[in-house]
Amino acid sequence: MNRASLRLLPGALAALCLLASPAACAFEATQQRGGVTLRYQDAHDALPEAMRQRIIDTFFKAYVPQRADFHPMAPTQAAIVIDPAYDGIAFVGEKAMAATITINPAWLSKHPGDTDLVTHEAMHIVQGYPEYANERVPGWLVEGIADYARDRYGVDNAAAGWALPLAVKDGQNFDTGYRVTGAFLKWSEAAHPGLVKALDDALRSGAYTPALWKEQTGQPLPALWAAYAAETHR
Ligand SMILES: [Zn+2]
Repeated sequence: MNRASLRLLPGALAALCLLASPAACAFEATQQRGGVTLRYQDAHDALPEAMRQRIIDTFFKAYVPQRADFHPMAPTQAAIVIDPAYDGIAFVGEKAMAATITINPAWLSKHPGDTDLVTHEAMHIVQGYPEYANERVPGWLVEGIADYARDRYGVDNAAAGWALPLAVKDGQNFDTGYRVTGAFLKWSEAAHPGLVKALDDALRSGAYTPALWKEQTGQPLPALWAAYAAETHR
């Protein structure tokens, strides 16, 4: 078989499975590591085995230490669901009593190096905040912490060409979110160890206010960002 037909095979198999009996081709596996149980479900067996293995490995390598470092009471039951009907990239929710990461297989087909998206999503399970995107739990900070964690616990971010930015660009601020906030958190944590854990704890307990930044670093949030930007602006 040449390379082209090999590459077509998983998709062709999936199509055949849909025509025959979906249940016949469904792939399910349960694994346990580090006190955490992961159920992996791919109803259409949409991902090649090597990719599936990398996703499962990445989950455990990220989630077990994230959970130990940030929130030892975070769920011990988790699931990864490969869902071609979901048209985003990946998200976390709760399904059948398990914290569940849903992944769009089309994204991974196009970006096969991006398996550390699981590391970002696993941190969302650890976070488990009671709210999202309001004053008590700002969305920019939630996503910034998840990308900080992708950098810190990622298995192979280089494979996706993924990295935290080294320089601040015009128009960015502490609340730009994702990688921009993640890089700011990394810089701030280096100078003030324990900052990210304190932020994470406060977001979970409902105690977060912007004043926490000053309590932890001695500087109000905008001043801390200004110091960071002055050092890293290009
Ligand atoms: Zn996220």
